[in-house]
Amino acid sequence: MIIATDMPEVAKCVISQCAYNADESCHARAITIGDGPDPDCDTYFDSSKHTESDRTAGVGACKMGDCAHNDDFECTADAIQVGQNGNAVNCLTYSAAH
Ligand code: SF4
Repeated sequence: MIIATDMPEVAKCVISQCAYNADESCHARAITIGDGPDPDCDTYFDSSKHTESDRTAGVGACKMGDCAHNDDFECTADAIQVGQNGNAVNCLTYSAAH
């Protein structure tokens, strides 16, 4: 069995209302990007209770096969940033492949 330990880091996330967010950082174990056609954070959920963890989240999976950083539905960037894009919570590191 291979256990992945080399996930890209979620370097910054400013979505303070998310349960996993504290101090502009994501503290989930891992997040999934790509809820629908846009690079939405699929792990985001609004909660008044927040995690007590201080770990830094990784990108566990990404469904954005058309992103320049995506290889075989996994993110290959060193780190990503998550933030607001209109009404959505998006991976701001997304870059459409040409
Ligand atoms: S940078 Fe691209 S491949 Fe990496 S999580 Fe964001 S959308 Fe997915």
